[in-house]
Amino acid sequence: MGIHILPDTVVARIAAGEVVERPASVVKELVENAIDAGADDIRVECLESGKRLIRVTDNGSGIRADEAALAFQHHATSKLRDAEDLSHIRSLGFRGEALASIAAVSQVTCVTRHREENSGTLLRLDGGKITHQERVGRPPGTTVTVEHLFAHVPARLKFLKSNQTERSHIDNLVTRYALAYPHIRFTLIHEGRVYFQSAGSGQLRDVLVAAFGGEEAAQMVPIASDPLATITVSGFASLPSLDHANRSRILLFVNGRPVQDTRLAFAVIQAYHTLLTTGRYPVAVVLVQLPPEEVDVNVHPAKAEVRFRDADAVFSAVQRSVRRALLDHLQPPEAPSALPEAWRAQLAATSPAAPTDAQPASPLQPQAQPPIPGSERWERVGIARQSSSGRWSLPAAPAPPSPAASSSSLPALRILGQLATTYILAEGPEGLYLIDQHAAHERILWERAMAQLDLGQVPSQALLDPIPVTVPVSSAHLLETHLETLRAIGFEIERFGNNTFLVRSVPAIMFQDDIAAAIREIVADLEEGDAVLQRDVEAKVLRRVCKRMAIKAGRVLSLAEMQALVRDLEQCESPRTCPHGRPTMIHISVATLANEFKR
Ligand code: ADP
Ligand code: MG
Repeated sequence: MGIHILPDTVVARIAAGEVVERPASVVKELVENAIDAGADDIRVECLESGKRLIRVTDNGSGIRADEAALAFQHHATSKLRDAEDLSHIRSLGFRGEALASIAAVSQVTCVTRHREENSGTLLRLDGGKITHQERVGRPPGTTVTVEHLFAHVPARLKFLKSNQTERSHIDNLVTRYALAYPHIRFTLIHEGRVYFQSAGSGQLRDVLVAAFGGEEAAQMVPIASDPLATITVSGFASLPSLDHANRSRILLFVNGRPVQDTRLAFAVIQAYHTLLTTGRYPVAVVLVQLPPEEVDVNVHPAKAEVRFRDADAVFSAVQRSVRRALLDHLQPPEAPSALPEAWRAQLAATSPAAPTDAQPASPLQPQAQPPIPGSERWERVGIARQSSSGRWSLPAAPAPPSPAASSSSLPALRILGQLATTYILAEGPEGLYLIDQHAAHERILWERAMAQLDLGQVPSQALLDPIPVTVPVSSAHLLETHLETLRAIGFEIERFGNNTFLVRSVPAIMFQDDIAAAIREIVADLEEGDAVLQRDVEAKVLRRVCKRMAIKAGRVLSLAEMQALVRDLEQCESPRTCPHGRPTMIHISVATLANEFKR
C-alpha cells in the first residue's frame, strides 16, 4: 500500500476513539456540555448501560437554530476563540470535538432551543452526516440522544466490557459531577428507573447523603481552607471510622473537573498519617479551586488529567486542609503510650492508682469479650469459651493428643503460651512453632465454610430486625446482580430503595458482626477484580466473612482457647497458610536453634 491521505470518515473515527472510549465517555461529554450551558437540572437516561441509548436532557442556554448543525462539526466550539484563550479556560469543554466525535460513531438526535429564540431545532445524524433537520417546539434547553454507539465500529464494540462494568462507569461519573456541582439537580435513570437523584440544593452534604447514604455521610467532615488564598480547597473527608480498601473513593476535582491525579490522592492519604490502619484508605471528596492560568487542562483528550504550574503548592494546600478538618473533629488522643495495649492494661489492673474501668474493653477482662465465632464446638468438648485464669502464668500441661494428628500435616503441638497477644507459642516434635492466631483462625473458619458450601448450604441466621444498608450509588447495581449468589452462602438481602438494601439473614458465623460494615466491605471486594463465576464470587465473599470473624491480633486467649484453636488447625487440610495465602505459622527447628546458639 502506497502512502495516501485517509478519507474524512476514517479520520473522524480515529479522532473519535480518543474522546469516546466507552458509553461513560459519551455521558461525560454531554453532561459537561449541559453544565457549560448553565443548566441547573440535568437528566441522564440509559438503556443497556448506554450501549443501546444514552440521552442527556438539560435546561441550559440551548443552541441557536442557525448554529445547531455547526455544533456537530469538528473543532466547532463557542468556548474558545484563539490560542491565548487556552491559558485561562473556565468552561469544561473547549476542544469542539465531542459532539462531532460522538456523532461519528453512533446515531444522534439533538433537540434544542435557545433561550432567546421562539422555536427549537431537531437534528438527526447518522455516522456524522446530517440526515434530517426541522423546526420543533420545546422549552429552552437541549436533549441529545445517542443510539447504537459503536454499531459501525466493530473493533471498539468488541472491547466494551460487560453491561455491569460499563454501567458502573456511568454511575460513578454522574455521582461525581453531582458532587462537584451541588447546585445542579442530577437525575440518573437506567431502563426507565431512577437510580440516583441529587437535590440541587447547593449543599454538598445533601449530595453525599444521596450518593453514599446517610450512614457514610455522617462519618464525613467538611474541609475548609482560607477562602482568600489563591488555592482553595473544600469538600468532605471521612473520619477514621470510615475507610476503604483502596484509594478509589478519594474523589478529586480541580476547578469543577473530575481528575485523576496520584499525587493529589497521595496528599489526601498523607493527611491521614497515623490515623488509618496501613492498607486502609480514606473516603473523600476534595474540590480544589485555583485561577485557570495556574492549571493546564489541555493534557489529555478526555481531559481527565491536569498539570499544575505549582504542583507543590497545590499538594500542600490539599494536605493541610484535609489534615486540619480531621484534627478539628477528632478528640485529643487518650494518654498515648508506646507500650502494647495488653501491657498497659495489665499495669492498669495491678496499679491501684489506675482504675481498670477506665478501659472497659481491656483484654484483661475477658468477660467483656465477645465469644469467638466457630468456637461452639469447643464448648461441646467441654472447653469453656472464656477463662478468667491468669494470662501470663500458663501451666505447661501437655495438650491431650489429637485424634486426627496422624492424618493431619501438622504434628500434635503442646501450647507454651501467647506472645504479644498475637502469636501462639507451641512445641512440637520438631521444635518451636509460632502460630499467628488470626491467620490460623481464618484458615479454620474458611475450610469449615467451604465444606458447608460443598454440602449445599452455608448455615444462615435470620436477623431479628432486618438491617438496612446503604451502599454507594455506583455499587448498588453490582450488589443487586450478586444477590442470588449471596443467598447460597447464607445472605438474604433484598433491594429496598435506590441504593439501600435490607439484610434479612447472614451466614450463622456472622452473629455479632457489624452487618452494615460487612456488607459494604463485601461490595468493595466485589468491585475489585473480575470474579464472574459463581464459585469465585462465593469464595471471595466467604474469605471476607472469615477474615472479619477470625479472632483478631491483640486478643488475649486462654490456654484452653489456644489448645482448641491449634487442635482445629491440625484438622485443616492446608493448616500452614491462611485463605489469602499468607503463612499461619513459622517453624523453628531444634537444629536451627542449636545452630543459632552455636552449640
Ligand atoms: P466543546 O464543548 O468543546 O465546545 P462540543 O463538541 O462538546 O465542543 O460542543 C460544541 C458546541 O455545541 C459547544 O461549544 C456549545 O456551543 C454547543 N453545545 C453543545 N452541547 C450543548 C448544550 N447541551 N447546550 C448548549 N450548547 C451546547
Ligand atoms: Mg463539550
